[in-house]
Amino acid sequence: GAVIGILGGGQLGRMLSVAASRLGFKTCIFEPGGDCPASHVANYHFQAGYDDAEALRAFAQAVDVVTYEFENIPTSALDIIETLRPIRPGREALRISQDRLTEKEFLTGLGLQTAPHAAVDSADDLGTALESIGTPAILKTRRLGYDGKGQARIMSPDEAGQALDDMAGSAAILEGFVEFTHEVSVIAARGLDGSVACFDPGENVHEGGILRSTTVPARLTPTQRSDAVLLAARILNALEYVGVLGVELFVTPQGLIVNEIAPRVHNSGHWTQNGCAVDQFEQHIRAIAGWPLGDGMRHSDVVMENLIGDDIDRIPAMAREPHAALHLYGKTACKPGRKMGHVNRVKPGKP
Ligand code: ATP
Ligand code: MG
Ligand code: MG
Repeated sequence: GAVIGILGGGQLGRMLSVAASRLGFKTCIFEPGGDCPASHVANYHFQAGYDDAEALRAFAQAVDVVTYEFENIPTSALDIIETLRPIRPGREALRISQDRLTEKEFLTGLGLQTAPHAAVDSADDLGTALESIGTPAILKTRRLGYDGKGQARIMSPDEAGQALDDMAGSAAILEGFVEFTHEVSVIAARGLDGSVACFDPGENVHEGGILRSTTVPARLTPTQRSDAVLLAARILNALEYVGVLGVELFVTPQGLIVNEIAPRVHNSGHWTQNGCAVDQFEQHIRAIAGWPLGDGMRHSDVVMENLIGDDIDRIPAMAREPHAALHLYGKTACKPGRKMGHVNRVKPGKP
């Protein structure tokens, strides 16, 4: 049988591995860490660094197709893998999503709305950017940020110096603060044959930059819902994308504004595990394996709650709750801000 190669061994790699094995595939992860969430369920584990060319070649040769669970894979590692096996989603999606500025230029090039923004490489740049964008604003590192890390809010111009210090010399981008009413995301998929399937948009609540919960259905008018799905499809097609993509959106009276895209399965798509016949993880495996996409129809209303840090103390109580599906990542060390699992609370009956 075919072997799916997954770069990264976190919870997304774990849930991709489970979905792949349900479809009869074997999985092989590449992950420097030893005892990681995906290593407990994958068939094979190449435990090596992304600078280990020999291990990368051996990994690629052991699998039929390579995918990934995070977007910050070093280019040098992709260069090696690319000569041996297909990488899905392709490298253009990675290149664009690895840099917030490149990503915004790509999105505006497609005619989509983003937050007002400017590149910031110096104190002078920041001063100029603040003059045109105003406050409140958010300074973000262009690369490697996640869960709100590498971001500094600037409420008034006198906070500029501190915010720039927080970037620790990394290239940054200033974003105007978007006055959204709420946040939603579209989990979208495109198959090898170019077909597109989107899951119903979910409504996301963030706390301290970390996703707290996703609720489906989201509060959207029929027009907003179709706008959200159509713009996700436009992104997929522009990238000739293969796999699942997460598109984070701000809902505003001026329309939908794209916050960012993630070229992978997405935390805000975890509700699909208990709300759809084919969830985002199976959908991703189907796409990269060249299978037909599953239909993303939602059969139930769901609220997904992330279990972060000592939220896990509530697991015994949640285990007694009716209609609550627990998904735990098998992480042994619990730290504040660490995603330990999630719970999908399903509303029985028709959506
Ligand atoms: P992740 O990749 O884990 O979703 P991240 O570190 O890339 O997170 P962002 O998505 O950029 O972070 O920001 C996290 C949250 O901060 C957003 O979901 C939103 O709530 C808020 N936020 C970010 N940028 C803006 C903005 N320009 N205007 C208003 N709110 C923002
Ligand atoms: Mg992000
Ligand atoms: Mg985000």
